[in-house]
Amino acid sequence: MGDHIIRATTVGGVRAFAAVTTTLVEEARKRHDCYPVAAAALGRTMTGALLLAVNLKTDESITIRISGDGPLGEIVTDAHASGSVRGYVRNPHVELPLRGNKLDVGAGVGNGQISVTRFTGLKQPFTGNADLVSGEIAEDITNYLLVSEQTPSTVALGVLVQPDLTVTAAGGFMVQALPNADDEVLSQIEKNIAALPPVSQLVSEGIDAAGIINRIFAGLPVSMYDEIPLQFECHCSYERVQKVLVSLGEMEINDILVTDGHAEVCCPFCSEKYQFNKDDLELVLTLIKGE
Ligand code: ZN
Repeated sequence: MGDHIIRATTVGGVRAFAAVTTTLVEEARKRHDCYPVAAAALGRTMTGALLLAVNLKTDESITIRISGDGPLGEIVTDAHASGSVRGYVRNPHVELPLRGNKLDVGAGVGNGQISVTRFTGLKQPFTGNADLVSGEIAEDITNYLLVSEQTPSTVALGVLVQPDLTVTAAGGFMVQALPNADDEVLSQIEKNIAALPPVSQLVSEGIDAAGIINRIFAGLPVSMYDEIPLQFECHCSYERVQKVLVSLGEMEINDILVTDGHAEVCCPFCSEKYQFNKDDLELVLTLIKGE
């Protein structure tokens, strides 16, 4: 089963989104060499960003920034309405004792802020902020949606990491009630959600996004929209990194030439490494002088 997301509605003004993100979270885990608590924190944030992004128009995107004072440091993810996502966690090599039998993502993230920026193309990007409530990511996104966007939501996110560090299941869902949502429908959905096992368990049992939606809306009529495939994708390139080097200016590049003679630039979002040898750096100098 490839990664995918689906949108659905039921009667009474309630909509839901569900996503399976196992492959893209495992790719992020490998690219950044994340230890389990970092893989869980990053995977939850990437999945949450995709759940928010699917609501945007084509070509629009969203950035979630989790700025906590815990050992993981900042977590940043970008997700596009088209279904691509990228992200990083500042300190991927964090080890923390389990809490109960669970990865202690909350202790890894700590206290701080969540900010969500929507890039809508034509207009100025819009950023909203809220305090982190637990650092467990799903609760933080739920609180953000309520406080900053006045949208009551239920968000669940899960990442299952094996002892050998691989991610074998990841996914999430978000349920939102429109302003005049029907109370009976809402209480039925609340009961359905309370009876659900953790979302990572559902995914590890092979249940897809439509299956998750059917459980959330059990006993109610469901309309589902087209499934969108999801993937980890970064838009960095040699040309973009070259532009960054050009922006550093002549003195800085001369300094690199004299001290190292080469530069290795690592993309923070995907850990792709770009090499610039002496000739490449001299070309950068030529570009700077030509500006
Ligand atoms: Zn990249």
